[in-house]
Amino acid sequence: MIKKFIQYYKPHKHLFFIDFTCAFLISIMDLVFPTVARKILDEVIPKKDTNLILLFGLGLLVLYILRSILQYVVDYWGHILGVKMEYDMRKDLFNHVHKLSFKYFDNTKTGHIMSRIVNDLNEVSELAHHGPEDLFISAVTLIGSFLIMINLNLKLAVVTFFVVGIMSIFSIKKNRQMKKSFKELRKRLADINAQVEDSISGVRVVKAFTNEEYEQKKFEIGNKNFKKSKEDSYKVMAEFFSGVTFFSNFINLIVLVYGGFLITNGELTIGELVGFFLYISMFLQPIRRIVHLIENYQKGMAGFSRFIEILELEPNVVDDEDAIDISNVEGNIEFENVTFSYNDKKNVLENISFTINKGETVAFVGPSGAGKTTLCSLIPRFYEIDKGKIKVDGIDIRKITQKSLRENIGIVQQDVFLFSGTIKENIAYGKIGATEEEIIQAAKKANAHEFVMSLEKGYDTYIGERGIKLSGGQKQRISIARIFLKNPPILILDEATSALDNETERLIQNSLNELSKNRTTLVIAHRLSTIKNADRIMVLTDEGIVEEGKHKNLMEKEGVYARLYRSQFNVEKVI
Ligand code: ADP
Ligand code: MG
Repeated sequence: MIKKFIQYYKPHKHLFFIDFTCAFLISIMDLVFPTVARKILDEVIPKKDTNLILLFGLGLLVLYILRSILQYVVDYWGHILGVKMEYDMRKDLFNHVHKLSFKYFDNTKTGHIMSRIVNDLNEVSELAHHGPEDLFISAVTLIGSFLIMINLNLKLAVVTFFVVGIMSIFSIKKNRQMKKSFKELRKRLADINAQVEDSISGVRVVKAFTNEEYEQKKFEIGNKNFKKSKEDSYKVMAEFFSGVTFFSNFINLIVLVYGGFLITNGELTIGELVGFFLYISMFLQPIRRIVHLIENYQKGMAGFSRFIEILELEPNVVDDEDAIDISNVEGNIEFENVTFSYNDKKNVLENISFTINKGETVAFVGPSGAGKTTLCSLIPRFYEIDKGKIKVDGIDIRKITQKSLRENIGIVQQDVFLFSGTIKENIAYGKIGATEEEIIQAAKKANAHEFVMSLEKGYDTYIGERGIKLSGGQKQRISIARIFLKNPPILILDEATSALDNETERLIQNSLNELSKNRTTLVIAHRLSTIKNADRIMVLTDEGIVEEGKHKNLMEKEGVYARLYRSQFNVEKVI
């Protein structure tokens, strides 16, 4: 874990070096001050030479100014180092999350991912900056003051270190508890995040069912847990800090009393005792620093370990080493004995084989849950199949880069996801960097131009979060415009019009027909009227593809399809 953390220092070596050097100089200077003070007390003042005193004062002033400058460098550039590392980590994490496969997102709450990317790394930058620097400064001052104290008076030093030892044991014990409570805290925070994200993105459903109270109760549990967890961690922290403060004061007390005895016995001068006091505070400083560091470390590492956990997740679907980019795709699709399950328990698809020729429009019909959507999501390789082969233009899709494979497939679904932004931006999502002209052309083909122009700001209209300001049909037209712009040779229409009323459906159906021209098209439709004209219809049930043929033939066959069709139209016979 630490090794991985250190990796992030590498790009910022120079900054690290500057920060470190300044920190080192500061600790050396701090070590010198008490000795100077002792000298003034024991040697300069007794001489009663005001010029000499002034000279020492001036020297100290110069040192103090220099120290401040160094402090500025450490505080500013040191933190910049941390900020840069946090930036790098956040970037890596975001990019990595986008590499993960659908299987991961199916099983992970969005809020949890958000809290890892946004919150967990916050503490890491503090640690990145203070971590090594504190450790180093502490080591230098600790060892330095230790040696000087032994030199000043061995007896006094031994007594002091004994108490320091007890204090250290106490600190270590408390720190273990702190670590546990910080990790718990992160977890609880992520839970709240997930809950808020869920509840707010579903706010329309919440209101429609007037389930605000239910949501509040659910949130209350998470919020309470978070509160409890915070209380617990503050409790440990309070125990810790009060304990440490007591020990520090106790050390002073011991030194004062025992030092007093030693002075009485003539084994110690006043100057030495004062010097000793100053070194004790110097000695306690790194201990406080380390304590603070440990706190930072626990918090930072709790975040960092959650960061690494995700970073180490391997995407479920990866490009083969010798995967190739495909271009000029014709659009032949082949399934060879494809078997697939989401969770190894039950095969959603078993031993499915079929061929779709370029330019053909093939409809998949069948009961809900039969696996139609699943089948279509295997073509862009959103999931890895368990057995068999899927080929595009005769090439196994595992031998094709995911990027080039997906660039050649357009998907229109029932649920349209639009990003918050303008209509223009949303259409241009089909082809990043598309010109205004291309966007308008695509919108025209998708029958969207007219309604877009009727909006106040036309293509620059903001559509609200997830397109909430648009109707279902309007959203669907924008998603179709996107695909026109993308212009892929393979098209998947998964219940694209199922959520729409008849009138809108007809309009959109026209655009879809236009869209599927010269493209290999897989259509899943709930309303069978929309697929009557497909080149071929395949009936998918739990048993696999049970019927296949043109509408007319399937009706004549009087099988599953004919039954489905009749049940929808409630007619005895269709020609
Ligand atoms: P259809 O589109 O024919 O209605 P689906 O392909 O959506 O059917 O679903 C087929 C089966 O796979 C269903 O039993 C469904 O519960 C299951 N399923 C669909 N998506 C997932 C998923 N992401 N994770 C686990 N199971 C899923
Ligand atoms: Mg479906």
